[in-house]
Formats: sequence, structure tokens, C-alpha cells
Amino acid sequence: MTLPAHDVVVLGDGPAGRALGAACRDRGLDAVVVGPDHAWTSTFGAWVDEVPDHRGAFVAETAIDVVAGERRRLGRTYAVFHNQCLRASLDRAPRVVDTVVAVQHHTWGAVVRTAGGTPLTAAVVVDAAGAGGVALDRDVHPERTSFQTAYGLVLSERPDVGGDAAVLMDWRPARGGAAGAEEPTFLYVLPLGGGRWLVEETSLARRRPMAVDELRARLAARLGADLTDRAEHVEVVSIPMRPGVPGRLQPTVGFGAAAGYVHPATGYSVTASLRAAPRVAAAIASARSSTADPARAARAAWDAVWPRPQRRTRALHDYGLEVLLGFGADDVAAFFGTFFSLPHDVWSPYLRVDAAPGEVARAMSAVFSRAPWGLRRRLATGRPPLPRRPR
Ligand SMILES: Cc1cc2nc3c(=O)[nH]c(=O)nc-3n(C[C@H](O)[C@H](O)[C@H](O)COP(=O)(O)OP(=O)(O)OC[C@H]3O[C@@H](n4cnc5c(N)ncnc54)[C@H](O)[C@@H]3O)c2cc1C
Repeated sequence: MTLPAHDVVVLGDGPAGRALGAACRDRGLDAVVVGPDHAWTSTFGAWVDEVPDHRGAFVAETAIDVVAGERRRLGRTYAVFHNQCLRASLDRAPRVVDTVVAVQHHTWGAVVRTAGGTPLTAAVVVDAAGAGGVALDRDVHPERTSFQTAYGLVLSERPDVGGDAAVLMDWRPARGGAAGAEEPTFLYVLPLGGGRWLVEETSLARRRPMAVDELRARLAARLGADLTDRAEHVEVVSIPMRPGVPGRLQPTVGFGAAAGYVHPATGYSVTASLRAAPRVAAAIASARSSTADPARAARAAWDAVWPRPQRRTRALHDYGLEVLLGFGADDVAAFFGTFFSLPHDVWSPYLRVDAAPGEVARAMSAVFSRAPWGLRRRLATGRPPLPRRPR
């Protein structure tokens, strides 16, 4: 029988792939990460308390406000990752700089074929190659996929956009005028360290991505001018947000955005991957020590990628997104004004992919109880079908 050369080959060298590679090495597994070694250029924001073990990789920790009806300072510290520091802290597994073109599964393990031509063999193959992945089967549901889009500028100082701190969401209409006249977008304002600030106009979720030109025009309206030419960097965001999670019976295991870790309300997935990596690595290590069957090891890994309670959480999050998609600008602002008026130990779990379903349900019912009448009526009457219990 052929013996695989590695315990684990991770496809993809983004935050998720490198985090899992590092966690596997920490568990004593022979893990290799394959990817093209592209620079990470996205601005990764996160709540500091979600990943205390990675605090050293943050730059510019900050207090942060929400503007939805009124300006409110949130009682949690927010920060942006220093991408090189985060990468360096996660680079504990050997890397193969290459692109994966195919994965073939056998009874003894799998062969990972790369564009460079050197095949790798492993007992467990994990696809962490970003949205869509490279070797995963996933129901695409185009009619239920939505997109977060944003247009952002990195400027050398904080522009005059009101307040003096970071802003997670400013739901005031970009062009002034009556709230509700336009489709909802919000302004995101974030210090990046060294006096630099990111200002980003964001469409939280929309069935079809909002046009970049429209986002750019809205940002210009907020700033009083289009400052694109003065920007150090222009950030264009497009994050597909797919409902559900990939099937857990497939032989390639998913992880990170490829496995559906993108949060349906925020588009974020980095902290979810950092938090899950040790759990998934532990499951693979345990399976490898108790079985030589790669299919059983893959199943154990899937159960750690998406533990059953978190599948229920995901169904609730998907439901919440469907509710939001039905809202106009007035309702969205009222919704987030209500959401962030809750005690932060009530709203915080809602923003985590790995929250317990009870925590998410608690936040949802608290919003409903506290919502103004108009919003409550919309929540009660405009709701999509209730989520099915996940298998
Ligand atoms: C501009 C922008 C801003 C964002 N801001 C945030 C934020 O603030 N916070 C947050 O949590 N999320 C944010 N996101 C979402 C973010 O993309 C994801 O959260 C995160 O990058 C997903 O990490 P990942 O490692 O799962 O996938 P990716 O980052 O997509 O990494 C996948 C890796 O796989 C590699 N790859 C692809 N195909 C192959 C192949 N065939 N073979 C080998 N390797 C392959 C790619 O080169 C890439 O390095 C943002 C996204 C964008 C675009």
C-alpha cells in the first residue's frame, strides 16, 4: 500500500491556510502549505478580544463608534492586523510555492497535483484556497448568494467625516438628504497606524454587487471630493457571501473562506479561521493517531471545521442576512442602532461564526424586543421562511 508523505497538505496560503498549517505543526503533524505566496493587501479588521493569542499581530488598536440614529461608542477594542506580522506569526509549517490544479483521492490518501508538476501526497487534504476553494464541492445557490462590496481609500490623515475615532458603521446617507432615499451603504473609518486612515464606503450585502463607481461617488460625497488621486492605496472589496456550509462527506476538507467561514453579517472570516485552526488541527491529530483510514480522518476534521452547534448558528446567521436583505436604508439604520444599543455581551456573539446558537438567538430576540415599532413590524412581517434544521 502507498503511504502518504505528509499527514496534511493545506491548499492555499492565506490567513486560514497558514493558520491551519501552523496549528497542525504545533500538534506534531507533518503539514505542508501550498500556495502562490502572494502578498496580503486587504485591510483585515477584527475585535481584539476574539483572538487574544494574536494580539501581537495587531497594529493601531482603537475605540470604535457606530453611527445609526445616534453616535455610540462601542465598549470593545477594535484593531487592524499588520499583515506581515500576522503572516510571520503563522509561518510555522513548510510551504511549497505553487498552485494546486487537482486533487485525487485514493483509499490510502490523496495526491495533490500542482502547476509546478511536483505531486504531493497526504492523508488529509484541506482546501483553504479562499472563496470557492479549488477542490471542494459546494452548492452554489446563485439566487441566495449575496455580495459585500466596498470602495476604500488609505489617506495620510483622518478626513473630516464627523467624530474623532474609528467608525465601524456610519449609516447616515452618503449624499445627505432624507434617510431611506437610497439603497443602504455605510462609511467605515479605521486608523491604520502611522497617522494613516482607511475610509471605505461599504454595501453590507446585496444580491448583485453594488457598482464600484457608485460606491466611489458616495464616498466622494461624504468626503466633499473624490480623494482617490491623493490616496496611498485604493481598496476595492468584493466578498461573496454564500448561504450554508459545504457538505461534510467530501474527502477534501474545507477551511476558512473556502469552508464558508465568511460571516453573513460582516463578510469577515479571519478571526474565525484563527480561532478554529487549533480545534481542527487537534481533531486531525487525534484521528491520525487512532485510524489509518483517510476518509475517517477527513470526517473528523469536517466535524471540527463545522461542529454541529455551529451549523445551527450558521442557519440562524443566514436567516438574519435574508432579513437584512429585505430592508431599506431606514430599516437597516434602525436595526443597527438597536443592535448596538444592546449590552455588548449580547451583540458580540452574533458577530462570531463560532458563537453558540443560543447566543445568536438571544441577540436576535433582544433586537426584536428593543426595536422601535416600525422595525419590529418589518421584522415580524417581512421575514423570510424560518431556517431549516441543518443536517
Ligand atoms: C479588501 C478586502 C478587505 C477585507 N477585510 C476583511 C476584514 O477586515 N476582516 C476579515 O475578517 N475579512 C476581511 N475580508 C475578507 C477576507 O477575504 C477573508 O476574510 C480572508 O482573506 C479569507 O482568508 P482565507 O485564507 O480563507 O482565504 P484567502 O485570503 O482568499 O486566501 C486563499 C489563498 O489561497 C491561494 N490560492 C488560491 N487558489 C489556489 C490554488 N489553486 N492553489 C494554491 N493556492 C491557491 C490564494 O493565493 C490565497 O493566498 C476582506 C476581503 C477583502 C477583499
